[in-house]
Amino acid sequence: MRVTDMDIAEVVALVNEWGTEPCRVDGRAPRPGPELTALADELHPIFATTDPTTRARLVTTLLQVTDVRPELAPDLAESWTVQDPAQAGRAAAALALRHHLAEYPGRLGLCADDQCADVYVDASPAGKRRFCCLTCQNRARAAAFRRRRAQNRA
Ligand SMILES: [Zn+2]
Repeated sequence: MRVTDMDIAEVVALVNEWGTEPCRVDGRAPRPGPELTALADELHPIFATTDPTTRARLVTTLLQVTDVRPELAPDLAESWTVQDPAQAGRAAAALALRHHLAEYPGRLGLCADDQCADVYVDASPAGKRRFCCLTCQNRARAAAFRRRRAQNRA
């Protein structure tokens, strides 16, 4: 069965909307679909780790589990196949991560706000993104400001 890369933004949405941890920390119920939740939970650590070696190992394991294989299409375009159609979704996500990381090493992450476990892709020019969204960034800034003010008073 032919497999094409999932869009990397779709991988992020899958992890955040179906993942156990992002939903638990945010007090949401994961969207229905136990298979997607299982996949989201497999993908979450790939974003959460900051160690490139661990990240590479996790993506490699994911690719191996799906048994995704390269194939040369008749038009000589790069393409990929899996034997087991049940692995197609996992393989599409694994390929998206593999291709994204090959082009933009380290450009994945877990939101730095302690009230959030959402993941993100860092497309910022400087590659220094730390939060999943502006809401989290503003909340973390406000919390840091309150902490500093409390320390100054003490
Ligand atoms: Zn966040």
